[in-house]
Amino acid sequence: MLLKNNTEKITSVLKSDNVLTSLEERYCYAQDSTNTRRHSVLPEAVVFAETAEDVQKILKSANRCKIPVVCRGAGTNMVGACTPEKGGIILNFSKMNKILDFNAENMTVRVQPGVIVGDLKKFVEKRGLFYPPDPSNMRVSTIGGSIAQSSGGPMSFKYGTTKDYVLNLTVVLADGTLMKLGAGTIKDAVGYHLNQLIIGSEGTLAVVVEAELKLIPKPEASRVIMSYFDTLEDAVSGVNNIIAERIFPATIDFMDNNSITTVERFYPCGLLVEKEAMLLVTIDGFDSSMDEQENRVRRAMQESGASSIVTAVTEAEKEAVWTARRASFAATAKLAPDVVSDDIIVPRDKLAKMIRECKNICDKYSLSVCMVGHAGDGNIHPQIALNLEDDRQFKNYISAKSEMYELAVSLGGTISAEHGVGYEKIPYLEKTVDKEAVNYMRSIKKIFDPNNILNPGKIFKV
Ligand SMILES: Cc1cc2nc3c(=O)[nH]c(=O)nc-3n(C[C@H](O)[C@H](O)[C@H](O)COP(=O)(O)OP(=O)(O)OC[C@H]3O[C@@H](n4cnc5c(N)ncnc54)[C@H](O)[C@@H]3O)c2cc1C
Repeated sequence: MLLKNNTEKITSVLKSDNVLTSLEERYCYAQDSTNTRRHSVLPEAVVFAETAEDVQKILKSANRCKIPVVCRGAGTNMVGACTPEKGGIILNFSKMNKILDFNAENMTVRVQPGVIVGDLKKFVEKRGLFYPPDPSNMRVSTIGGSIAQSSGGPMSFKYGTTKDYVLNLTVVLADGTLMKLGAGTIKDAVGYHLNQLIIGSEGTLAVVVEAELKLIPKPEASRVIMSYFDTLEDAVSGVNNIIAERIFPATIDFMDNNSITTVERFYPCGLLVEKEAMLLVTIDGFDSSMDEQENRVRRAMQESGASSIVTAVTEAEKEAVWTARRASFAATAKLAPDVVSDDIIVPRDKLAKMIRECKNICDKYSLSVCMVGHAGDGNIHPQIALNLEDDRQFKNYISAKSEMYELAVSLGGTISAEHGVGYEKIPYLEKTVDKEAVNYMRSIKKIFDPNNILNPGKIFKV
């Protein structure tokens, strides 16, 4: 009752149509895109901020009453990063979705956190510039969510992830104080880079209310080269050969045989189901460089035993090829009532071993797995189709997951490349991050958020 009264007091600082409290409305925010078997926790209220001042008022009051506040973009993360573990208030940014300023000369753009990543990309591309981070679900995911999780995507191999494009952040601290971080210049060597600390912190340290992002010139042309291999090892050697040819592709994505056959079964598009692996290589740059780059990539692939090499040149052809790759999640989801998509990364020279061993682990536990990922980065997304309500399958899944993480760490990799930790990966955090480093993270959390109101129960147990 006390909690409810406090929540009412806190949310009363906003216009009433920016506050949702009905059971049905709150129910919609009890979970995010994480597919797992667990009890969902209802928030007491959902509020829509329209301005930084709204965020300040909510946090100031929530901090005083020690009520949790959980930021929410599009809710598409896959690790339970924006579920209200301890109830409290969901802070929704869909009304703070404006592009505030665009500076072509400086190649920067200033945005509110609710801007959709795909909309921003289109906006700057129309003006000849490029914002490279490309999470597969960019049509819905937000800049705030991307910053809080340092999202990546297929283009991370060449262009890096969200963290490489944030110049300035304006954040609101747990007690409602507004703080500006960064200098807005391409270089900045003044003191600690606190903005980099906020990036990837999953809303546990501060709330992002504005960001200034770095842009680069839009590549003049691109082509996508699709090729097939008889073994995973050949596909990985193809990746190494491309780099030996001194080509730096924008993407080097792969699909394993299960992914190829599953996509072909549900969304027939002519994929070669007898092949063990497929690579999708995107080259980009000056139009005049396309033939040379393509020849080098083809040569590298052929040297690794690739067959059926096809190049997509027009926008429609490129889209068709990428649709096959993107369809893999939806196709896997048709194999069983549930699908869980994981996110593991290893050094590239361990990629073939990691993929093969992941498959062996899933076979051992009778789990059906389709593997896709970003081969250039060594980043694998094992997509496991199962019935989470089936106790035996669920137990097997937990065991398989744990073994896959141990394997990734033993091969010099880690348990998340771009999806984050949320609550989902907390039990595994200390398997991959040094214990002392986790203690430092806890100390930093205490400095930023002494009352533990910002997204409590995420990344680590306080
Ligand atoms: C089909 C599918 C494909 C995906 N593909 C990719 C991919 O290719 N690459 C990739 O990296 N990820 C991918 N993801 C994961 C996820 O979509 C991304 O991490 C995405 O950036 C999350 O954005 P969001 O707006 O949905 O954030 P949410 O899920 O709403 O929130 C994510 C985290 O950010 C915090 N947060 C949100 N807004 C703020 C703010 N203003 N201030 C502080 N914290 C905030 C939340 O509290 C939460 O901790 C995929 C997910 C799905 C479902």
